[in-house]
Amino acid sequence: MMTTTTLLEEITTSEGQEIHDPATGELIGHAPLTSAADLDDAVARALHAQVSWAATPDGERQAALHAAADAVEAHAEELAQLLSREQGKPLNGPNARFEVGACVAWLRTAASIPVEPEVLVDDESGYAELHYRPLGVVGAIGPWNWPMMISIWQIAPSLRMGNTVVIKPSEYTPLSVLALVKVLNSALPADVLIAVPGDGSLGRKLTEHADIAKIMFTGSATTGKAIVKTAADTMKRMTMELGGNDAGIVLDDADPQAIAEDLFWGAFINTGQTCAALKRLYVPDSIYDEVCHALTEVAAKMPMGIGLEEQNVLGPLQNAKQRDIVARLVDAAKDSGARVLIGADPDEDAPGFFYPATLVADIDPQNPLVIEEQFGPALPIIRYTDLEQAIAWANGLEVGLGSSVWSSNPERATEVAARIEAGTTWINKHGAIDPRVPFGGAKQSGFGLEFGLQGLKEVAQPHVISR
Ligand code: NAD
Repeated sequence: MMTTTTLLEEITTSEGQEIHDPATGELIGHAPLTSAADLDDAVARALHAQVSWAATPDGERQAALHAAADAVEAHAEELAQLLSREQGKPLNGPNARFEVGACVAWLRTAASIPVEPEVLVDDESGYAELHYRPLGVVGAIGPWNWPMMISIWQIAPSLRMGNTVVIKPSEYTPLSVLALVKVLNSALPADVLIAVPGDGSLGRKLTEHADIAKIMFTGSATTGKAIVKTAADTMKRMTMELGGNDAGIVLDDADPQAIAEDLFWGAFINTGQTCAALKRLYVPDSIYDEVCHALTEVAAKMPMGIGLEEQNVLGPLQNAKQRDIVARLVDAAKDSGARVLIGADPDEDAPGFFYPATLVADIDPQNPLVIEEQFGPALPIIRYTDLEQAIAWANGLEVGLGSSVWSSNPERATEVAARIEAGTTWINKHGAIDPRVPFGGAKQSGFGLEFGLQGLKEVAQPHVISR
C-alpha cells in the first residue's frame, strides 16, 4: 500500500510550482506544470480512450467507479493528511477526513443511480424515447476550497456516463487533486482520467480546446463569465457552479440555543471557505441578543490551528489573498460602527494565514461584509423587525446559491423558503448537500445541476429516437 510520502513523492517534481502549507509556510513540494503541448497530448489521449470507455457496458463503468471508491477508502488517511497540509483544513470537524469520506460517498452514488432511456410518447400517434449518450471529453476546472470533493463531483458523473475527463486543479491546491487522481487511476483504465496542473491560462486553453465537449467549472463568478465567453466559440456544454452569498433567515419562533451550533457550522464549515456556506444571517429583533449570545458561545469553544493537530476544527485561510479579503471586509465593518462580538484582530506576527472566527453584529444591511462574498470566517448578523424586509434583503443580490430558514414551525419555514431566490433552501440546517439531491445555482451563481440523476444527465447528450 502507498504511504503519504510515497504518494507525495510520486506526484511532485524536483522543480515546478512551490506549494507551501498555509498554516506554517513550510514547503510541501513542487507541483508539475503542464505545457500547451502536454495539454494537447492529454486531450488527444482522453479522446482516444473515450471511444472504448463509451463502448464499455454501463455495469462495468459502475464497477470501475466502485473500485475507485475502494481505492480512495484504502488511502483515506494519507489523502486527508495531504489535503490538510496543502489546503489548511483540519483533519477533524467537517474538514479533511470528512472531505475524503465525501469523495467515496459521491463516487458510490454516481455509480449506483439507475439511468434508463425514457419513453416520452407511446400511443397511436407514434413512439419516442430519450436516451442519454456520452458527450466525449469533459474538461473539469476546480477551486481550492474543497479540491478533492469538487473534483469528484466533476469526475464521477462524467465517467459514469461514458465520457473521459481532463481535469485542471486550482493552482493553489494541485497536489491534493494529483494525489486523488493517482489513487483513482489505480482502479480505472488508462487515460479515462488525466490531471493537468497549471494556472488560469492553462484553464483558458482547456476551455478553448476544440476536442473538449463540455466544461464543468466550479469557481468564482468572474472566471465563470470569462469561460462562458471563451467556450462559446466551440459551443461547449457547460455546468457553472459559481460563488454565492447565502442568506439565512431566523424566524421569531426559533430556539436560539437549539440552532446555534448548526448555524455556526453552516457559516464556518471549512473556516468559511465554502461556496454554499451561510454568509449573512438575518435575525429578528425579538430574539436578536439571544441568537448573538448563543452563537458567540459556540464560536468561543472551537479551536483553530494547524490542521494536522487533532484537536483543531478551524484552520487558516488557504492563501494570503483570501485572508486579506476577509480582513478588509471586517475592518470596513468595524469602521462603519458595527459591533464585533468575537474575533477580528488577527495576530499579524504569527505564521500562516489565520484569521479568527469573527461574528459582527448591528451591521448595516448594505455593508460590504453583508453584500460581498467574504469566503472566510466572518459572519455578519443583521437585525430585522419586518420579515418581508428580511426576505427582500435575502433576495436583493445578484447571486443565489444556497440559503436557509430557521424556525420551530416547519410549515411556516417552508412558506418562507418557497420565497427565497436560490438553488437550494435548507430548513434548520445550511449547506447539507447530499449526493442524491441536485445542487446548483440560481441567478449569477451559475447554471446546470450536479448530483443525483439530474447531475448524470447534465454530462450526457440527450438523444431522441422516434418512430
Ligand atoms: P477562481 O475562479 O479564481 O478559480 C477557479 C479555477 O479557475 C482555478 O482552477 C483557476 O486556475 C481557473 N481559472 C482562472 N482563470 C481562468 C480562465 N480564464 N479560464 C479557465 N480557467 C480559469 O475561483 P477560486 O478562488 O479558486 O474559488 C473560490 C470561488 O469558487 C468562490 O467564489 C466560491 O464561492 C466558488 N465556489 C463555488 C462552488 C459551487 O459549487 N457553486 C463550490 C466551491 C467554490
